[in-house]
Amino acid sequence: MLLLTQPDIEQKMALLTSQAQVEAVGGDEPHGYVAEPAARAVAEELGKYLFQPAGSPRGPLVKVFLTDACENDCLYCACRATRDTPRTAFQPEELANAFLDLHRRGRASGLFLSSGLGGDSRRTMERMLLTVELLRHRHRFPGYIHLKILPGATDQYLEAACQLADRVSANLEAPNPRRLAALCPHKRFLDDLERPLHMVAKLRRQGPVLPFGHTTQFVVGASGESDREILSTTSRLYAEADLTRAYYSAFRPIPGTPLEDLPPTPLDRQCRLYQADALLKGYGFSLDELVLDEEGNLPAGRDPKLEWALRHPERFPLEVNHASREELLRVPGIGVRTASRLLRLRRSGKIGSPHVLSALRLPTSRIAPFLTVDGRRLAPEGPPTRALQLTLPL
Ligand code: SF4
Repeated sequence: MLLLTQPDIEQKMALLTSQAQVEAVGGDEPHGYVAEPAARAVAEELGKYLFQPAGSPRGPLVKVFLTDACENDCLYCACRATRDTPRTAFQPEELANAFLDLHRRGRASGLFLSSGLGGDSRRTMERMLLTVELLRHRHRFPGYIHLKILPGATDQYLEAACQLADRVSANLEAPNPRRLAALCPHKRFLDDLERPLHMVAKLRRQGPVLPFGHTTQFVVGASGESDREILSTTSRLYAEADLTRAYYSAFRPIPGTPLEDLPPTPLDRQCRLYQADALLKGYGFSLDELVLDEEGNLPAGRDPKLEWALRHPERFPLEVNHASREELLRVPGIGVRTASRLLRLRRSGKIGSPHVLSALRLPTSRIAPFLTVDGRRLAPEGPPTRALQLTLPL
């Protein structure tokens, strides 16, 4: 039986937000290609607050657990049942009021509600839904709400979540059933975790719900999985379950858990996964095109797009006046927005001078080996080198 302590509301808020780990890194641009320092800064800075999805109201989102009690025993988790730690829980009404208080004081513009499973995951999911229902219907809160779907949620709960929240997420944690079994022996990969993602996709296809879509998250580096395993699952879910985005959370050992002695996953790996994910989702790359090492991992410390470009000298340089959008997106240093700006510029006339690129604040040293402007090379002839990696700006 789970024993809960009864601290006051402020203490509960402090306890149950500290359980909420950072999981959103990668900027607020859905297809943004985030270079390493940006993602690092975000990871260090966020604490319990999360980046907002593009288009959501500006201001901090507070991520809070309904309860940090859990009947499951996932090996990496601070809330696991057999970890010796005090537990507490909000009543739905308490949490709704505590959040509204933060909102009124300008400390939270939106809510990310997650939870341990308590002693009964269905009952806990019901209480999470009740909290959001109170906010929406009794208190008329119109702002952003992200609701976590607990493992094994019924279709009825999924339908209610889709009606109430702006975004929902169901975390896979690991890329396949074998890896999950090593981390979360009580969770069933397909039935408990992946099925809800497909069901939510179906509900989204049926009507205008969840303006910010549905997401998942992986704990990176806790189960010995490779980047290829993770990215093949995400690319499959982008294609088959209309997944809005995946989050990659570098494993951090937590004292008092069976994985406390496992080394933390370097943030560099997390950043490479975000970069590779963006290439798959917004830049027209396929999984087979990504450069992976023999173990199926993205090379550490290297920009995956630059790695691809260095291996394909036959594709460059491209003439900036003729390259298609798809081709421009393959140039290291040119992102989705920049490609659009260049195409707009071309509509009003030929780009005749490299100064135009500088005026657009393009990272000219980075793009130089890959482009010509009106037939003129921007860099000495010869293959671009990996030294470009050192010049990556944010
Ligand atoms: S089910 Fe969730 S909260 Fe419970 S131990 Fe596993 S990861 Fe932690």
